[in-house]
Amino acid sequence: MKYDYDVIVIGSGPAGFSCAMQSSKFDKKVLVIEANEDSFGGTWINSGTIPSKALRETARIIQRFQNQFKDLAKEKAYQHHQMADLLMYKNQILESKNTKVKTDFDKNEIDTVRGHGKLNSEHEVEVETTDGTKKTYSAEYILVATGSKPVKPKGFDLDHDKVFDYTSILTLSHIPRRLVVVGSGVRALEYATTFSNLGSRVSILNEKDSFLPFLDNEISEQLQQILETQKIEVFSNAESIEINPNALRNTTEVKYNLRNDNEGGRDRVIETEHVLYLGGKVPNTDSLGLREIGVKLDEEGYVVVNNDNQSSVPNIYAGGDVKGFPAMASSAFSEGRIASCRMFGIEALDVPPEIPQAIYSIPEIASIGLTEKEAKAEGLDVTVGRAYYKNITQGDISNQQDGLLKLVFETETLKLVGIHILGERASDLIHLGQAVMSLGGDIRYFINHVLNYPTYSEAYRIAAFNGINRVYKAGVKYKKILKSKD
Ligand SMILES: Cc1cc2nc3c(=O)[nH]c(=O)nc-3n(C[C@H](O)[C@H](O)[C@H](O)COP(=O)(O)OP(=O)(O)OC[C@H]3O[C@@H](n4cnc5c(N)ncnc54)[C@H](O)[C@@H]3O)c2cc1C
Repeated sequence: MKYDYDVIVIGSGPAGFSCAMQSSKFDKKVLVIEANEDSFGGTWINSGTIPSKALRETARIIQRFQNQFKDLAKEKAYQHHQMADLLMYKNQILESKNTKVKTDFDKNEIDTVRGHGKLNSEHEVEVETTDGTKKTYSAEYILVATGSKPVKPKGFDLDHDKVFDYTSILTLSHIPRRLVVVGSGVRALEYATTFSNLGSRVSILNEKDSFLPFLDNEISEQLQQILETQKIEVFSNAESIEINPNALRNTTEVKYNLRNDNEGGRDRVIETEHVLYLGGKVPNTDSLGLREIGVKLDEEGYVVVNNDNQSSVPNIYAGGDVKGFPAMASSAFSEGRIASCRMFGIEALDVPPEIPQAIYSIPEIASIGLTEKEAKAEGLDVTVGRAYYKNITQGDISNQQDGLLKLVFETETLKLVGIHILGERASDLIHLGQAVMSLGGDIRYFINHVLNYPTYSEAYRIAAFNGINRVYKAGVKYKKILKSKD
């Protein structure tokens, strides 16, 4: 063999993990290099996807319990539950996921080495361990899957005692009574609703001029109402954020201005117990030696790749956050697998351009395809079908009546072009619509097929009927629609 390995994977997050696993299934010799001394799995397992969802799950269970037994809802979750117990639940999940990844590597005879990887040439990676020892490994192909890290905030520091980022919040010793989340994206909403459901009073300082502007308008309106019910305030256009301790009052003061407010940009102050900073991310490419060996990076440092996740150096691929959008664990799994298939000349379907998005707020939000507004802007003649959770039997049974499932479909062909859901289980529910949509189906699927009952999937049936009724009202014969649209 010309090289030590067929493929070297740098980073063991979802992109690296899936590339390593897929390559081993192709009977290739694989080495995974991981800089973290203790754990595999990167942001996916240790600080991002899984821990935030495990913590959220505890808040969701508490919320459901309180929803069901209203007398208890009068008391705050922090009066009954300890942060240590919630974090213990999360830690158990992390430990079990870490063990599973390690076992998967071992069972599939994937070699692993701990240390910081750096490319010395297009086929060689030097690994430096914490004690300074260096060793070089070679491979025919290399996958860069080193992920990303949070951007440092401007105007204040993270002390990881009062002011946290998404990693240090996981060390919080108690449920805060008051929390300010500084952030503009989906994670800000996720953490805000998680802590709100644990009883914290939460404010979001959003530095952008609108909050989650990509959401469908109606979903956005529903979300607004839910945030009001949860007493979560969102201040958009926030700027000049400063954070200082107020020793006298034993609080943390968050000072900020609002751009374009009608009060002349006066200073505003929130007194809080803690601040959670959820700013942007930057790729982990600064000390990898990529530019030196000819790998093209964009101005922000992301690896530039083609549709096959191949970089400008043909035997070097990149997957996950390091190549930028969509920067999610869900897509990183596919990117790592597809990179492996392309390396070894195995036919694999391209990932369809429509990928589902999920926001793990309480309640969840999920979507795929075009919003109603986008579809109309593209000149499509679309109709909308809606189902409200309060009309779904499972919503009654689970006492989850806040929510909406919205189907956007072409009026003439009834073909689905977008699905937007806010409500319990939205992140799972979206996949039924995704399957129908990606197979080119139309909304009659949900009427012509028997769906389990009671389930939240009933929303698809109700929304499809609602949509068909609208088309009918527009003057097309109802019977004809159901029979002959092929
Ligand atoms: C709070 C939060 C919540 C999230 N929730 C979701 C969610 O619900 N759903 C979702 O799909 N996505 C979610 N994400 C995003 C998701 O975590 C990331 O998109 C995903 O983990 C990226 O995977 P990756 O393989 O690119 O990198 P990572 O998972 O970041 O892994 C990269 C690995 O590379 C290692 N590494 C870095 N440099 C080197 C080097 N030089 N040598 C060796 N090893 C190195 C790191 O130690 C790390 O283990 C969330 C992110 C955050 C922060």
